[in-house]
Amino acid sequence: MSEAFVTLATTDGYALGALVLGQSLKAVKTERKLCVMITDHVSDLLKRNLEATFDEVIVVNVLDSKDTAHLKLLERPELGVTFTKLHCWILEQYQKCVFLDADCLVLQSVDDLFEREELSASPDAGWPDIFNSGVFVYKPSKDTYEKLVKFASEQGSFDGGDQGLLNKYFSSWARADISRHLPFTYNVTSNTFYSYVPAVNQFRSDIRIVHFAGTVKPWQLTYDPQAKQLSGCYQSFEREFLLKWWELMYETVWPNLSASNTGPHDT
Ligand code: UDP
Ligand code: MN
Repeated sequence: MSEAFVTLATTDGYALGALVLGQSLKAVKTERKLCVMITDHVSDLLKRNLEATFDEVIVVNVLDSKDTAHLKLLERPELGVTFTKLHCWILEQYQKCVFLDADCLVLQSVDDLFEREELSASPDAGWPDIFNSGVFVYKPSKDTYEKLVKFASEQGSFDGGDQGLLNKYFSSWARADISRHLPFTYNVTSNTFYSYVPAVNQFRSDIRIVHFAGTVKPWQLTYDPQAKQLSGCYQSFEREFLLKWWELMYETVWPNLSASNTGPHDT
């Protein structure tokens, strides 16, 4: 039985995120496969590094289908990345998958997620009757993929992104079955580090996945490896987790990036 963690990167920035995410899964010794979907906007350097870290790198082409649902969707540029994320359902080589946003960092093993059924996810901190679509358990199926594409082209997304769309499609999530509610510790979004500091303090050791949701992403910051310091001002928990991201980046991703940059094949 083949099961995988799946992520997505359409730019070099998100590809860096995916590399750190992949390394964080390796650091907690996952026994599942690692799969990343990319588009052809990702540079060769980052692609080579993704190939070294992930078991499978899949290039998804948004123009590869000509049916009306796809075409209708392509007329909605705001749904571009959402549409790309839906491709995770076509990975039928796996029986079950866990999708993780590329801005997630795994702190403890989350292989137990594969005991859950589609669609399992954590509540969103902003509106807890909605699940956060940065971490979810699903079952790949081309049939579901086609239904999602059709649904997206007809209904769109109430928030312009994949979260609104997936919540509308899997609308029974809020009330039907509590076993499909993952604990919040599997998707702790960075707004929590400001909105509920005492809870982060109380449950700090239970946190399994930190999700840097929001406009500022870890790879956009400047890191000083000698002083182990970051540019900018952060609440202490946010700084702690951003530093964790950067330490992993500096130790496991950066050396390979610079090595392949100046490797024997480059002159
Ligand atoms: N993503 C991407 N390219 C983009 C925007 C998003 O590859 O330009 C992917 C990436 O995996 C990212 C996910 O889609 O983690 C969701 O977007 P983001 O994490 O920026 O949304 P947020 O969690 O901040 O709402
Ligand atoms: Mn995210």
